[in-house]
Amino acid sequence: MKLTILGCYAATPRTLTNPTSQVLEIKNRLFLIDCGEGTQVQLRKNKIKFSKINHIFISHLHGDHLYGLIGTISTFSLLGRTTDLHIYGPKGIKELILLQLKLTESWTTYNLFFHELESKESEVIFEDNRVIVKTIPLKHRVYTNGYLFQEKPGERKLNVEAAQHYNIHTAYYQKIKNGGNVTLDDGTVIENEKLSFDPIPAMSYAFCSDTVYNEDVIPIIENADVLYHESTFLESEAPLAQKTLHSTAKEAARIALKANVKHLVLGHYSTRYDGIERFKEEAEEVFSNVILGDDGLSFEF
Ligand SMILES: [Zn+2]
Ligand SMILES: [Zn+2]
Repeated sequence: MKLTILGCYAATPRTLTNPTSQVLEIKNRLFLIDCGEGTQVQLRKNKIKFSKINHIFISHLHGDHLYGLIGTISTFSLLGRTTDLHIYGPKGIKELILLQLKLTESWTTYNLFFHELESKESEVIFEDNRVIVKTIPLKHRVYTNGYLFQEKPGERKLNVEAAQHYNIHTAYYQKIKNGGNVTLDDGTVIENEKLSFDPIPAMSYAFCSDTVYNEDVIPIIENADVLYHESTFLESEAPLAQKTLHSTAKEAARIALKANVKHLVLGHYSTRYDGIERFKEEAEEVFSNVILGDDGLSFEF
C-alpha cells in the first residue's frame, strides 16, 4: 500500500503548498482522494499516470477539496481518454460538474459515472475482488465523508514442501490456497494448516478530512493500519477548531489512540503557521506513531 500526498494544506493554494489531494495505491488499484486546485499539476510532478486513475473520491464540496476536479476531468478528455471514470462524492457533485461541462461545451471523450452520497451512516460504495471502500461520515460545516479503503484477505500461501511430502497432486493446489483440506487416497485427511501458510495480512487506510473531533468514527476506523486525520490547527487555536468544525493535531492523535490505528498521518494544516513541525510535537504528546504529511511525500506501508 502506497500513499502519495499531492496536497495537504487548508484553504487557498500558495507558492509552495497545495490544497487537499492524495493518491492511494492499493492492490494494484489507484484511487484519487479529493481534488483541490492544482491536483493535475501535482499528479504530473509526482509522475502519476492519469490513465491509471479510474476512481475519484471527493470528501465534501468545499473548494480546497474540489476545485481541481473540473480541470482534471477536462484534461483527461484533451488527452483522448476512453476509459470510464467513476466519481464518488456528496449529492450535488453531478449537477456541479455537468453544468460546467455543458456551459463550456466540453463533453468528455469517456463515460463519466457519478456515485452521489447522502447517507449519514457508513456504507460500502465500491467493491471488487481485492478492495472494498466504505464511507466514514464526518462532522463538518457541510455534508462530508471520509473513506476507508480495505484490502480483502488474499489466498493462503502454499507450503510446497509439505504438499510434495504428502504426494498431493498439483490439481489440489488451488483448493489448498483457498483454505481447503485434502483427503488422500487412503482416506487420511490432511488439515489445511499443514499444507499452507497464513496469507499476507490485509491492510487498510482511513482518510478523515475535514471534521471536528468526532468519536463516532472510531468503530469504523478501528485497527486501521494507517489513519490520515486532518489537523488544521494547533492546540492554541482549539476554540477556533471547534467553531469552524476542524480538528487540532492533538485531537487527531486522540482519535488515532482510541481507534488503535498503527500510523497517524497529519495534514490539512492551516497556512497561518510558519512551519508544521509543531503539529507533530503536539500529536506525539498523545500518540507515538505520528507521520507529518507534506506535499510530494510518499509513504509505503
Ligand atoms: Zn478543507
Ligand atoms: Zn471543508
